[in-house]
Amino acid sequence: MKKTELNDIDALFVGAHPDDVELSAGGTVANLTREGRKVVMVDFTRGELGTRGSGERRLKEASNAAQILGVQERINLGLPDGYLKADDKSILKTIQIIRKYRPKIVVMNPEYERHPDHEAAHRIIRSAMFKSGLLRIKTKERGNLQEPFRTRKLISYMQAYAFSRKPDLIIDISDSFETKMKAIKAYTSQVFVPGISDPEGPVTRLSRPEFLEELEARAIFFGTMIGCRYAEPFMSIEPIGLKNLSEML
Ligand SMILES: [Zn+2]
Repeated sequence: MKKTELNDIDALFVGAHPDDVELSAGGTVANLTREGRKVVMVDFTRGELGTRGSGERRLKEASNAAQILGVQERINLGLPDGYLKADDKSILKTIQIIRKYRPKIVVMNPEYERHPDHEAAHRIIRSAMFKSGLLRIKTKERGNLQEPFRTRKLISYMQAYAFSRKPDLIIDISDSFETKMKAIKAYTSQVFVPGISDPEGPVTRLSRPEFLEELEARAIFFGTMIGCRYAEPFMSIEPIGLKNLSEML
């Protein structure tokens, strides 16, 4: 990853835990970076409560996955895994990130989710995005006052309840599916990678060999809905506007 000064980026992908974005929107990230778009990933926690691996190891894995996906930068806010809350501290840290990168689109965890951290992450972003546009909320970056910034282009990827809710948007990831899977396999402490993963240790939903097949089945399911091989589903907070119907041609 390049360590340059970044702002006015195209998309900010946010996850409560390292691997949330890869699992649900990794193909969409790879689609953007392949086009040369500027993408930054933000993880709220290090996933230190996870059954397998450690916070340190997951940070390293996250950095490897970011490189595979081709994003410009990946940062970790170090908030507490399992206890993520839309409190003032988390919201202010997020406002600083939004004002620093000024993303055109923000992609985040969904509002209604099985893991409470995912719902909390959603609430943090929603709250931070609104407040980030308020002139009277002052934040600093390296001692300099930040400008207010807000985007209405907020979308959620879909996680545990992807099959029980209707997506607003489905993105064709057929050309990026391999890159997505490669990024997911960078999490060797979490998913089953033959010859690399530790065969000992507790078994989790992700560490079963079938998990990667399930991910593929899910991508095929959503691909079928729009007539392509693999796809990822999303929900939009506000209606998605087009300038002209010709954008769909
Ligand atoms: Zn998660």
